[in-house]
Amino acid sequence: MSAARRILIAGNWKMNGLQEDGAALASAVAGKLKSVGETAFDMLVCPPYTLIGAAVDAASGSALSVGAQDCHTAEKGAHTGDISPAMLADAGCSYVIVGHSERRTDHGESDSDVCAKAEAVNGAGLKAIVCIGETESQRDAGDTLNVVKTQIAGSVPGNATAENTVVAYEPVWAIGTGRTPTNDEVQEVHAFIRAELAAKLGQETADGVRLLYGGSMNPGNARDLLALEDVDGGLIGGASLKVDDFWTIGDSCS
Ligand code: PEP
Repeated sequence: MSAARRILIAGNWKMNGLQEDGAALASAVAGKLKSVGETAFDMLVCPPYTLIGAAVDAASGSALSVGAQDCHTAEKGAHTGDISPAMLADAGCSYVIVGHSERRTDHGESDSDVCAKAEAVNGAGLKAIVCIGETESQRDAGDTLNVVKTQIAGSVPGNATAENTVVAYEPVWAIGTGRTPTNDEVQEVHAFIRAELAAKLGQETADGVRLLYGGSMNPGNARDLLALEDVDGGLIGGASLKVDDFWTIGDSCS
Protein backbone atom coordinates (compact mmCIF):
# COMPACT_ATOMS: atom_id res chain seq x y z
CA MET A 1 0.00 0.00 0.00
CA SER A 2 1.36 3.44 -0.91
CA ALA A 3 0.20 6.74 0.51
CA ALA A 4 0.01 8.13 -3.03
CA ARG A 5 -2.31 5.45 -4.40
CA ARG A 6 -5.76 5.08 -2.88
CA ILE A 7 -6.74 1.51 -2.13
CA LEU A 8 -9.46 0.06 -4.38
CA ILE A 9 -11.60 -2.76 -3.03
CA ALA A 10 -13.44 -4.25 -6.02
CA GLY A 11 -16.05 -7.00 -5.87
CA ASN A 12 -16.53 -9.29 -8.84
CA TRP A 13 -19.93 -10.92 -8.37
CA LYS A 14 -19.44 -13.09 -11.48
CA MET A 15 -22.66 -14.84 -12.59
CA ASN A 16 -24.40 -14.60 -9.22
CA GLY A 17 -27.52 -12.92 -7.95
CA LEU A 18 -31.13 -12.29 -8.83
CA GLN A 19 -32.74 -8.83 -8.59
CA GLU A 20 -33.58 -9.03 -4.92
CA ASP A 21 -30.16 -10.36 -3.85
CA GLY A 22 -28.28 -7.83 -5.98
CA ALA A 23 -30.24 -4.87 -4.68
CA ALA A 24 -29.85 -6.06 -1.08
CA LEU A 25 -26.10 -6.64 -1.38
CA ALA A 26 -25.37 -3.32 -3.09
CA SER A 27 -27.66 -1.48 -0.63
CA ALA A 28 -25.88 -3.04 2.33
CA VAL A 29 -22.44 -2.03 1.03
CA ALA A 30 -23.64 1.47 0.11
CA GLY A 31 -25.28 1.79 3.54
CA LYS A 32 -22.00 0.94 5.30
CA LEU A 33 -20.14 3.50 3.21
CA LYS A 34 -22.73 6.15 4.01
CA SER A 35 -22.68 5.38 7.71
CA VAL A 36 -18.89 5.61 8.09
CA GLY A 37 -18.42 8.69 5.89
CA GLU A 38 -14.71 9.04 5.08
CA THR A 39 -12.89 5.80 4.24
CA ALA A 40 -9.26 4.99 3.45
CA PHE A 41 -10.38 3.04 0.39
CA ASP A 42 -12.56 3.23 -2.71
CA MET A 43 -15.18 0.52 -3.06
CA LEU A 44 -16.57 -0.94 -6.28
CA VAL A 45 -19.03 -3.71 -7.08
CA CYS A 46 -19.16 -5.39 -10.49
CA PRO A 47 -22.49 -7.25 -10.75
CA PRO A 48 -23.72 -9.22 -13.75
CA TYR A 49 -25.32 -7.00 -16.41
CA THR A 50 -28.84 -7.75 -15.19
CA LEU A 51 -28.06 -6.27 -11.76
CA ILE A 52 -26.19 -3.14 -12.83
CA GLY A 53 -29.35 -1.01 -12.70
CA ALA A 54 -30.27 -2.21 -9.23
CA ALA A 55 -26.70 -1.68 -7.99
CA VAL A 56 -26.54 1.82 -9.46
CA ASP A 57 -29.84 2.71 -7.78
CA ALA A 58 -28.62 1.30 -4.47
CA ALA A 59 -25.28 3.12 -4.74
CA SER A 60 -26.91 6.47 -5.39
CA GLY A 61 -25.88 9.06 -2.80
CA SER A 62 -23.02 6.88 -1.52
CA ALA A 63 -19.34 6.56 -2.45
CA LEU A 64 -19.93 3.08 -3.92
CA SER A 65 -18.92 2.73 -7.58
CA VAL A 66 -20.47 0.22 -9.96
CA GLY A 67 -18.68 -1.58 -12.77
CA ALA A 68 -19.18 -4.35 -15.30
CA GLN A 69 -17.34 -7.64 -15.80
CA ASP A 70 -16.76 -7.43 -19.56
CA CYS A 71 -17.78 -5.50 -22.67
CA HIS A 72 -17.58 -5.48 -26.45
CA THR A 73 -15.09 -3.28 -28.29
CA ALA A 74 -17.65 -1.59 -30.55
CA GLU A 75 -19.81 1.36 -29.57
CA LYS A 76 -22.97 -0.19 -31.07
CA GLY A 77 -24.15 -2.40 -33.89
CA ALA A 78 -24.84 -5.97 -34.94
CA HIS A 79 -23.32 -7.88 -32.03
CA THR A 80 -26.12 -9.97 -30.59
CA GLY A 81 -25.79 -10.57 -26.89
CA ASP A 82 -23.00 -8.05 -26.38
CA ILE A 83 -22.86 -4.81 -24.40
CA SER A 84 -20.81 -1.76 -25.34
CA PRO A 85 -18.77 0.47 -23.04
CA ALA A 86 -21.03 3.37 -24.01
CA MET A 87 -24.06 1.40 -22.79
CA LEU A 88 -22.28 0.63 -19.52
CA ALA A 89 -21.40 4.29 -19.04
CA ASP A 90 -25.02 5.18 -19.79
CA ALA A 91 -26.17 2.63 -17.19
CA GLY A 92 -24.05 4.28 -14.51
CA CYS A 93 -20.87 2.19 -14.55
CA SER A 94 -17.48 3.76 -14.01
CA TYR A 95 -15.24 0.67 -14.32
CA VAL A 96 -15.13 -2.42 -16.54
CA ILE A 97 -13.13 -5.57 -15.77
CA VAL A 98 -11.42 -6.86 -18.91
CA GLY A 99 -9.43 -10.05 -19.48
CA HIS A 100 -10.54 -11.92 -16.37
CA SER A 101 -9.05 -15.42 -16.56
CA GLU A 102 -12.56 -16.88 -16.79
CA ARG A 103 -13.12 -14.79 -19.97
CA ARG A 104 -9.72 -15.77 -21.31
CA THR A 105 -10.47 -19.47 -20.68
CA ASP A 106 -14.21 -19.69 -21.39
CA HIS A 107 -14.25 -17.31 -24.36
CA GLY A 108 -10.73 -17.67 -25.73
CA GLU A 109 -9.88 -14.01 -25.20
CA SER A 110 -6.32 -13.18 -26.23
CA ASP A 111 -4.10 -10.39 -24.97
CA SER A 112 -4.93 -8.34 -28.07
CA ASP A 113 -8.68 -8.86 -27.49
CA VAL A 114 -8.21 -7.67 -23.92
CA CYS A 115 -6.19 -4.65 -25.03
CA ALA A 116 -8.88 -3.69 -27.57
CA LYS A 117 -11.52 -3.94 -24.84
CA ALA A 118 -9.46 -1.80 -22.47
CA GLU A 119 -9.06 0.82 -25.21
CA ALA A 120 -12.80 0.80 -25.87
CA VAL A 121 -13.51 1.14 -22.14
CA ASN A 122 -11.17 4.13 -21.89
CA GLY A 123 -12.66 5.59 -25.09
CA ALA A 124 -16.07 5.64 -23.38
CA GLY A 125 -14.59 7.52 -20.43
CA LEU A 126 -14.53 4.48 -18.13
CA LYS A 127 -11.69 2.89 -16.18
CA ALA A 128 -10.44 -0.54 -17.28
CA ILE A 129 -9.39 -3.17 -14.76
CA VAL A 130 -7.02 -5.31 -16.82
CA CYS A 131 -6.58 -8.82 -15.38
CA ILE A 132 -3.41 -10.84 -15.77
CA GLY A 133 -1.97 -13.88 -14.01
CA GLU A 134 -0.31 -17.24 -14.50
CA THR A 135 -1.77 -20.75 -14.40
CA GLU A 136 -0.56 -23.29 -11.89
CA SER A 137 1.55 -25.14 -14.45
CA GLN A 138 3.16 -21.88 -15.54
CA ARG A 139 4.05 -21.09 -11.91
CA ASP A 140 5.36 -24.60 -11.34
CA ALA A 141 7.54 -24.23 -14.42
CA GLY A 142 9.00 -20.99 -13.04
CA ASP A 143 7.38 -18.94 -15.83
CA THR A 144 5.28 -16.55 -13.74
CA LEU A 145 7.23 -13.37 -14.49
CA ASN A 146 7.55 -14.19 -18.20
CA VAL A 147 3.81 -14.84 -18.47
CA VAL A 148 2.96 -11.62 -16.69
CA LYS A 149 5.45 -9.68 -18.84
CA THR A 150 3.84 -10.99 -22.03
CA GLN A 151 0.34 -10.22 -20.74
CA ILE A 152 1.29 -6.64 -19.82
CA ALA A 153 2.92 -6.11 -23.21
CA GLY A 154 -0.18 -7.40 -25.01
CA SER A 155 -3.12 -6.46 -22.78
CA VAL A 156 -2.36 -2.99 -21.43
CA PRO A 157 -2.95 -0.17 -23.93
CA GLY A 158 0.17 1.82 -24.85
CA ASN A 159 -1.58 5.04 -23.89
CA ALA A 160 -2.96 3.80 -20.56
CA THR A 161 -2.89 6.31 -17.74
CA ALA A 162 -3.00 6.03 -13.96
CA GLU A 163 -6.49 7.57 -14.07
CA ASN A 164 -8.06 5.23 -16.63
CA THR A 165 -6.33 1.92 -15.91
CA VAL A 166 -6.05 -0.50 -13.00
CA VAL A 167 -4.13 -3.77 -13.30
CA ALA A 168 -5.29 -6.82 -11.35
CA TYR A 169 -2.78 -9.62 -10.74
CA GLU A 170 -4.81 -12.78 -10.31
CA PRO A 171 -2.91 -16.08 -10.27
CA VAL A 172 -5.41 -18.38 -11.99
CA TRP A 173 -4.72 -21.18 -9.52
CA ALA A 174 -5.65 -18.93 -6.60
CA ILE A 175 -9.08 -17.89 -7.92
CA GLY A 176 -11.86 -19.54 -5.96
CA THR A 177 -9.54 -22.18 -4.53
CA GLY A 178 -8.73 -20.85 -1.05
CA ARG A 179 -5.04 -20.93 -2.00
CA THR A 180 -2.84 -17.86 -2.34
CA PRO A 181 0.79 -17.16 -3.13
CA THR A 182 2.89 -16.12 -0.14
CA ASN A 183 2.98 -12.44 0.65
CA ASP A 184 6.57 -12.29 -0.63
CA GLU A 185 5.52 -13.90 -3.91
CA VAL A 186 2.66 -11.42 -4.31
CA GLN A 187 4.95 -8.46 -3.65
CA GLU A 188 7.57 -9.84 -6.05
CA VAL A 189 5.06 -10.08 -8.90
CA HIS A 190 3.49 -6.69 -8.14
CA ALA A 191 6.88 -4.96 -8.06
CA PHE A 192 7.71 -6.66 -11.35
CA ILE A 193 4.40 -5.52 -12.88
CA ARG A 194 5.11 -1.94 -11.82
CA ALA A 195 8.58 -2.09 -13.35
CA GLU A 196 7.12 -3.44 -16.60
CA LEU A 197 4.49 -0.69 -16.61
CA ALA A 198 7.28 1.87 -16.05
CA ALA A 199 9.14 0.53 -19.08
CA LYS A 200 5.96 0.68 -21.16
CA LEU A 201 4.20 3.81 -19.89
CA GLY A 202 6.87 5.79 -18.03
CA GLN A 203 7.75 5.83 -14.35
CA GLU A 204 5.28 8.53 -13.35
CA THR A 205 2.32 6.66 -14.83
CA ALA A 206 3.49 3.34 -13.38
CA ASP A 207 3.84 4.91 -9.94
CA GLY A 208 0.21 6.03 -10.10
CA VAL A 209 -1.43 2.89 -11.53
CA ARG A 210 -3.27 0.88 -8.90
CA LEU A 211 -2.30 -2.80 -8.80
CA LEU A 212 -4.91 -5.09 -7.29
CA TYR A 213 -4.27 -8.58 -5.98
CA GLY A 214 -7.00 -11.13 -6.72
CA GLY A 215 -7.34 -14.78 -5.78
CA SER A 216 -8.99 -16.03 -2.58
CA MET A 217 -8.63 -12.72 -0.75
CA ASN A 218 -10.68 -12.94 2.43
CA PRO A 219 -11.04 -11.24 5.82
CA GLY A 220 -8.27 -13.46 7.21
CA ASN A 221 -5.53 -12.62 4.70
CA ALA A 222 -6.54 -9.15 3.47
CA ARG A 223 -4.68 -7.10 6.06
CA ASP A 224 -1.28 -8.62 5.20
CA LEU A 225 -1.90 -8.54 1.45
CA LEU A 226 -3.10 -4.94 1.46
CA ALA A 227 -0.08 -3.87 3.53
CA LEU A 228 2.35 -4.96 0.79
CA GLU A 229 4.11 -2.03 -0.83
CA ASP A 230 2.89 -2.60 -4.38
CA VAL A 231 -0.58 -3.93 -3.58
CA ASP A 232 -3.13 -1.14 -3.95
CA GLY A 233 -6.30 -3.08 -3.40
CA GLY A 234 -8.08 -6.31 -4.13
CA LEU A 235 -10.27 -7.86 -6.81
CA ILE A 236 -12.50 -10.10 -4.77
CA GLY A 237 -14.82 -12.83 -6.01
CA GLY A 238 -16.43 -15.13 -3.45
CA ALA A 239 -15.94 -12.88 -0.43
CA SER A 240 -17.57 -9.93 -2.23
CA LEU A 241 -20.91 -11.76 -2.10
CA LYS A 242 -21.01 -11.53 1.71
CA VAL A 243 -21.36 -7.98 2.87
CA ASP A 244 -19.56 -8.48 6.18
CA ASP A 245 -16.59 -10.22 4.56
CA PHE A 246 -16.36 -7.64 1.79
CA TRP A 247 -16.56 -4.79 4.26
CA THR A 248 -13.99 -6.36 6.60
CA ILE A 249 -11.56 -6.66 3.69
CA GLY A 250 -11.92 -2.95 2.95
CA ASP A 251 -11.63 -2.06 6.59
CA SER A 252 -8.37 -4.03 6.82
CA CYS A 253 -6.49 -1.18 5.17
CA SER A 254 -7.74 1.48 7.59
C1 PEP B 1 -12.03 -13.30 -9.02
O1 PEP B 1 -12.99 -13.86 -9.50
O2 PEP B 1 -11.50 -12.35 -9.62
C2 PEP B 1 -11.53 -13.77 -7.73
C3 PEP B 1 -10.42 -13.27 -7.27
O3 PEP B 1 -12.28 -14.73 -7.09
P1 PEP B 1 -12.06 -15.27 -5.58
O4 PEP B 1 -11.87 -14.07 -4.71
O5 PEP B 1 -13.30 -16.02 -5.27
O6 PEP B 1 -10.83 -16.11 -5.61
